[in-house]
Amino acid sequence: MVRPRSKNKVVCQNNSCFFFRKEQGKNIIKKGINKSRHKQYICLHCNKYFVERKGTPLYRKRLSERKIRQLCKELVEKKGIRAVERTTGINKNTICSYLASFAEHAREISKYLTKDLELSTYEVDEFWTFVKKNKKNLSKTAMKKVQKEISGVIH
Ligand SMILES: [Zn+2]
Repeated sequence: MVRPRSKNKVVCQNNSCFFFRKEQGKNIIKKGINKSRHKQYICLHCNKYFVERKGTPLYRKRLSERKIRQLCKELVEKKGIRAVERTTGINKNTICSYLASFAEHAREISKYLTKDLELSTYEVDEFWTFVKKNKKNLSKTAMKKVQKEISGVIH
């Protein structure tokens, strides 16, 4: 009996597994929800559990996926951090730590914004402009990464 292929985009996160981060031939099923309410998965090749976001820059962060989406969208609106804090209910220190994390993983975050959040290239540009303006003390490498995303956008 052939089961319909599951639509999950999750790949194995166990780096000693032959199917580590491989899309092709993967055999991953959903396996409930963990304590922090993230969807859990198991790779049937190595029998290791992991959560959806492991391996992405958003993993291990405190906010839920829904909150992160909300935050990203608010940032595009170019309000100040305090305004974002008010509308999202996310503490400004947390917002700042996210800004730093976004910058460190600028390429992946740009992909996330365009693919998952379906933001336009213009909005992504606005997003990075906000990060640059509001996150003081970005490391030089992070700053470079952000700059690359801004200038890399074609209008
Ligand atoms: Zn595996």
